[in-house]
Amino acid sequence: MSTVVRDQSQELQKQLISGYFDSLSTANEDGKKVVYTFVPGNLTELIRAFDLLPVLPEINALQYGMRQKTGQFILDAEKAGHSEDVCTYVKADLGMIRAGNIGPTGKKLPKPDLLLLSYTGCYTFMKWFELLREEYQCPVVMLHVPYQGDGKISPAHRDYVVQQLKEKLIPALEELSGKKLDEDRLKEMLKLSAMAEDDLVAVFQSAKAKPSPIDAWFGGVYYIGPMFTAFRGTQAGVDYYKLLRAEVEERIRLGKGPITPEGDMNQERFRLVAEGPPNWTSFREFWKMFYDEGATVVASTYTKVGGTYDFGFRHDYTRPLETLAEYCGECYTNRNVPTRIDMLVKYVEEYEADGFIINSVKSCNSFSAGQLLILREVERRTGRPGAFIESDLVDPRYFSAANIKNRLESYLQMIEARRAGGHVSGLEVSP
Ligand code: SF4
Repeated sequence: MSTVVRDQSQELQKQLISGYFDSLSTANEDGKKVVYTFVPGNLTELIRAFDLLPVLPEINALQYGMRQKTGQFILDAEKAGHSEDVCTYVKADLGMIRAGNIGPTGKKLPKPDLLLLSYTGCYTFMKWFELLREEYQCPVVMLHVPYQGDGKISPAHRDYVVQQLKEKLIPALEELSGKKLDEDRLKEMLKLSAMAEDDLVAVFQSAKAKPSPIDAWFGGVYYIGPMFTAFRGTQAGVDYYKLLRAEVEERIRLGKGPITPEGDMNQERFRLVAEGPPNWTSFREFWKMFYDEGATVVASTYTKVGGTYDFGFRHDYTRPLETLAEYCGECYTNRNVPTRIDMLVKYVEEYEADGFIINSVKSCNSFSAGQLLILREVERRTGRPGAFIESDLVDPRYFSAANIKNRLESYLQMIEARRAGGHVSGLEVSP
């Protein structure tokens, strides 16, 4: 493929993420303590308020996946006895640890001083940290975050999590850092979070324009990087989202479509909504299948995995612990299937999409459970066709490029047939 084209915000994003990995590699020398935690429901502001550094194991796996280096890690973990059915993020992480715990940028990762689980909707997370606890013999704090069985977080749910923050987590962070919680500092950080969140929402909602100035799935995963990792509550995060928003607004003014690795996308021929994560090991190849066809993803659920801001949530500095508790329960996969269907229907309608695509990843039950039902329901309610693709997150054995490309092309042809008045129904695509 030709040289990758990047805009200014993407360069800045790259610098932020690589600076973050640099800070992890020198954490021990710098006397910084480290908290391993996960993206959904992460409590970055609280961790940072104690001057602790968050490490996100699934980001390490994802970044390694994008560098096509997870295949061997997964095989090594399977050889060590982990089943083929286990989530490949976990096996990539375990393989990475066995290979010396070198991070995706080639620099050593620090060992955890604490394992913090602040979202319990995925059972795998619990098992993953049980394995890491064995490995590192370090303390663990597991918050119990109620599932949105009724499609909302009730005051009782919120208070239950606040109580755990007060009684379990904050004392553990105080002990680890040797500091008392500075609530004013936490509030300042939460103010910065909300500023960045406003700009992120504006960026995602820009996709309502025609042509959309962004790709909200393939491009969107870069946009959520700082927000869902270590930069919420920081001035660097605010600056990044301000720059990104300004760039996107300029693209609208110029009538430009999304920027792709090969430059500006030309004509927008198809507008799609995406459900599920993309594949990471063939990320560029997968994206190219879309932009070569003039297909832009105008809204995606995956980019809400660390928070559904476009439905109104913002960190509220006036209620610091309550807002953190609400955030823990707000991530996309903590929502029940009817709420997820409502979200997708809204996206298809509000973003005037031609259809929607579900990438059902083998690894992740949190995403994949119920997706066939979601496909049928969203088709029924919107009257627009869906496509069902199966691949994986970071296991290259489960990405069948030729098959996926053929079926995607067939799906897009079907949308064209619909425009011409033909009969349409969904497509299922297996590896
Ligand atoms: S099963 Fe899904 S949510 Fe759970 S750790 Fe794996 S990828 Fe993450």
